[in-house]
Amino acid sequence: MGSEEGGSSSPLLRRPTLFPRSPQSSLFFCFALLLLLAAAALFLSSLLSSTQDHRPPAARPLAKLSRPVVLLISSDGFRFGYQFKAPTPNIRRLIAGGTEAEEGLIPVFPTATFPNHYSIVTGLYPAHHGIVYNYFVDPVSGDHFTTGSHEPRWWLGEPLWETVAAQGFNSAAYFWPGSEVIKGSWTCPAKFCPKYNGSVPFEERVDTVLGYFDLPKDEMPAFISLYFEDPDSQGHIVGPDHPDITKAVVRIDEMIGRLISGLEKRGIFEDVTIILVGDHGMVGNCGGKQIYLNDLSPWINIPESWVQSYSPLLVIRPPENVSSSDVVAKMNRGLSSGKVNNGKYLRVYLKEDLPDRLHYYASYRISPIVGLVAEGYKVAREMTDTCECGGAHGYDNAFFSMRTIFVAHGPRFERGAKIPSFENVEIYNLVTAILKLQGAPNNGSASFPNSVLLPSY
Ligand SMILES: [Zn+2]
Repeated sequence: MGSEEGGSSSPLLRRPTLFPRSPQSSLFFCFALLLLLAAAALFLSSLLSSTQDHRPPAARPLAKLSRPVVLLISSDGFRFGYQFKAPTPNIRRLIAGGTEAEEGLIPVFPTATFPNHYSIVTGLYPAHHGIVYNYFVDPVSGDHFTTGSHEPRWWLGEPLWETVAAQGFNSAAYFWPGSEVIKGSWTCPAKFCPKYNGSVPFEERVDTVLGYFDLPKDEMPAFISLYFEDPDSQGHIVGPDHPDITKAVVRIDEMIGRLISGLEKRGIFEDVTIILVGDHGMVGNCGGKQIYLNDLSPWINIPESWVQSYSPLLVIRPPENVSSSDVVAKMNRGLSSGKVNNGKYLRVYLKEDLPDRLHYYASYRISPIVGLVAEGYKVAREMTDTCECGGAHGYDNAFFSMRTIFVAHGPRFERGAKIPSFENVEIYNLVTAILKLQGAPNNGSASFPNSVLLPSY
């Protein structure tokens, strides 16, 4: 091996030299060098331009509007995934040109309509904004809250329309739980906050909102909410997997199309920020998934007067002279005995023992005993002949079926971006950041808007 390396026939010695010596070769060498330099220059310039292409994208400037406007739309009970049930070209368009929570928006607990809508516009958990369920009893006054209660004492916190108005801009709420409540010194004019009327056609709602954009710029609201009852109305009757849901989803998509087209006609589709959300999802509750409180009678009798709500949220307030801990212990003993039909699908808690992630404790309005029922199960007093079978929500917000959608399109949202799921209490800070307003204290995180919005240079 050693003789081969040192011999004259070594391939190393026969390799052509890189530095030719003849004049022709020199010319060739200069030409090659020039080519090399040109290639290097090209490479450097492409490197530079590709660096420029990868600068973090910034917010797109407003073309026609003089300041940002946010249009917050709720489609009630729009379960995450409904957007795949049918052709939804208009929602798809918002998704493609905007930012989407790729696995949906997480509602607050309980996953009911009023607590969630009010969390979206206040950034507060129900224990803090006071609307702890769709109906409840104030234990101090004995007054009953219902979805028709508009007295300001029920509605705590500061909803977006009030934040916006307090800082000198007009606000509009074309239906939203809480929008008819007069709080503080501001009263929303009737043209911007019509009284709730479920029979107003969706088209009329969209057209009225579009009309707000025809107002002189100092009258145009900076924040507008818009509400549709569907597909929640259908979901309760037929559950989430019925053709009626598909039809309802198509109709909501048509309303989004009507809105986009109206904004385009006005040349402001790219200027207006549209945030499309739902309040919660929906799950089927058919198939005998029932738990009857009367089945617990060998362990404890729960009188009807103690129960404020049966299902999906079981809410019990025993009289003062009855120990709530004792009630919880006896109920859970019965439920885990194996002798109560479906008993293992209900667990009862003192509210202070509920999982922290539910944030369902810090209000005197929350009853001392709360039952968590498994997905799709239902609590009733006793078996009856009426078999209610359809869809429900209100369950633990950890269930994927309770998730809804978040799609945002506008100058501060990156096109085609996907973001992880988040709780709807973050939306308040997002809206105030887009509008460049000072928000009220809330349960959202201060850093959330910067993690989602394009920087506004
Ligand atoms: Zn709802």
